[in-house]
Amino acid sequence: MYQIGHFIDGKQVAGTSGRKQPIFNPATGEAQGEVALASQSELNAAVASALAAQPKWAATNPQRRARVFMKFVQLLNDNMDQLAEMLSREHGKTIEDSKGDIIRGLEVCEFVIGIPHLSKSEFTEGAGPNIDMYSIRQPVGVGAGITPFNFPGMIPMWMFAPAIACGNAFILKPSERDPSVPIRLAELMIEAGLPAGILNVVNGDKAAVDGILTHPDIAAVSFVGSTPIARYVYGTAAQNGKRAQCFGGAKNHMIIMPDADLDQAANALMGAGYGSAGERCMAISVAVPVGEETANRLVEKLAPMVESLRIGPYTDEKADMGPVVTKEAREKILGLINSGVDQGAKLVVDGRDFKLQGYENGHFVGGCLFDNVTPEMDIYKTEIFGPVLSVVRAKTYEEALDLPMKHEYGNGVAIFTRDGDAARDFASRINIGMVGINVPIPVPLAYHSFGGWKASSFGDLNQHGTDSIRFWTRTKTVTSRWPSGIKEGAQFVMPTMK
Ligand code: NAD
Repeated sequence: MYQIGHFIDGKQVAGTSGRKQPIFNPATGEAQGEVALASQSELNAAVASALAAQPKWAATNPQRRARVFMKFVQLLNDNMDQLAEMLSREHGKTIEDSKGDIIRGLEVCEFVIGIPHLSKSEFTEGAGPNIDMYSIRQPVGVGAGITPFNFPGMIPMWMFAPAIACGNAFILKPSERDPSVPIRLAELMIEAGLPAGILNVVNGDKAAVDGILTHPDIAAVSFVGSTPIARYVYGTAAQNGKRAQCFGGAKNHMIIMPDADLDQAANALMGAGYGSAGERCMAISVAVPVGEETANRLVEKLAPMVESLRIGPYTDEKADMGPVVTKEAREKILGLINSGVDQGAKLVVDGRDFKLQGYENGHFVGGCLFDNVTPEMDIYKTEIFGPVLSVVRAKTYEEALDLPMKHEYGNGVAIFTRDGDAARDFASRINIGMVGINVPIPVPLAYHSFGGWKASSFGDLNQHGTDSIRFWTRTKTVTSRWPSGIKEGAQFVMPTMK
C-alpha cells in the first residue's frame, strides 16, 4: 500500500488532515494505495506558497519560462514508460492508451514553448496626437485546476502548462481516483527548472474543491468533469468573483450517411465507442445510421466486432480495452444497460456477464451494443461513460441532424459520408463544439482549442490554443501621451481621437 500526499512548495508532503481514500487497481478491484484528502489549512499552505513565488516567476522573461517547458517535454519523453505504467495501474486503461494520454498533454507543453510569441501584445502608434495605445496581457496571479479521473495526464497539462507559461502560479486538484501521475508531473516540472511554489498539487474531494472556490487569493478556476459538478463549480466560482471555464459531460453522436464507407465507419465506431472502455468525454456513444439498409448493414458489421473485443488488464499488451474505473462506475453502467433492456431497446451484444479468469473482482464490463434506441430512453439521455454503443435509426439526414441538435450535451459529433455538400451543411448547422468529418473523435490539437457547447461547457474560453492564453491572462490597456501637448494647458472637453 503506497501513500499519496500533496505537492506543496516544491516537494511532496504527507497529508495531515487525517482523511484518506483508497486507490484501487481497477483490474483486480483491490486497494493498492491511499490518497490524502486535504483540509483547508493544507490548501491554504499551497496558496501561500503560490502567492509568494508568483511575482518573481511573472517577472521572469517569457523565453526563460519557455525553456522550463522545453526541458519538461524532454523529461516527459524520458519518463514515458514509467508515467504510462503509473497511469494504467490506477485508471485501468491500456499502456498504449496511457501513453496517448501523456502525449496529448505533452503537445500542450510544446505549444506553450511559443509563449514569447503567444503573449505579445497590441500596440497602436499615434492613436491620437502624441498618443500611443497598447494592450498588455498580464498573468491573473494564482490559478487553480480541478480535473477528472479519465485523463490524469492530459487534462492537468491542458491547464497548468498555459497557466504557468503565462506567469501564473497554479494549484492542481486532481481526481482522487488516480492521483499518482499528477504528483509525478509536478516533480518533473521542478526537475525541469520550475521554481518551488509555482505548481502545487493538492489532493482531495469536495472539501478541497470548495476551499479553492471560496479562497480569496485564487483568481481563476478551470474545471473538467461531469456536468452537474461543472455547473456547480462555474456558479460558485462566479459568486466568489473568479473567472471560470468549466467543461462537463457528453453524449457524442456519429451520423453514418448511406454513401459512407461502412467498413471505415464500423472501424471508427469500435475505436471511438469502446477505446478506454468508453470512458472518454469524446467517445462516440450514439451511432445514427441514415436509412434502414445502412442501419441493418452497420449493425451486422458491428455485432461480431463488439463480441470479439479483447478485454484485459493493462498488463495485457493485446487488450483493446481495460476495466472501468471503480466498482460504483461498473454498477452504474450495468444499471443503465438494464434500463435500456427494460425500456425496449434491443441488446444485440450483451457484455453484462463478462468475467475475466484471474480477475474476477476487477471492474470489467463487456462491450455492449444496443439497436433500436429512441430519444426517450435513459440510455440515450444519460452519459453512460462505459463500453456501450447505442444505435438510433434515422430515416433521413434531417432526422439524423435533429438528434444531436436537440440533445442536452454538445461536446463532439461526427459525420461519415463521401458527400462534401452534406458534410459542409452538417458542420455549418450543428450546435456542437467539435465536429469530425470522417473523423470519429475530433479532439483538436494543442494549437487549436478544445471545448463543447450546451451542457458540455460553461464559460466562454476553451482549453489550450490561443483561448488558453486569454483565459490565464488579464488585459490591461494603456493610453499614453508624451508631452509637448502638456505645455498647452488643461483641456475640459471629453477627449476624442479626432
Ligand atoms: P467528476 O465530476 O466526478 O469529478 C471531477 C472533479 O470534480 C474531481 O476532481 C472530483 O474530485 C471533483 N468533484 C467530484 N464531486 C464533487 C462535488 N460534489 N463537489 C465538488 N467537486 C467534486 O468527474 P469524473 O467522474 O472524474 O470524470 C468523468 C466526467 O468528466 C464525465 O462526465 C466526462 O464526460 C467528463 N469529462 C469531460 C471532459 C471535457 O473536456 N468536456 C473531458 C474529460 C472528462
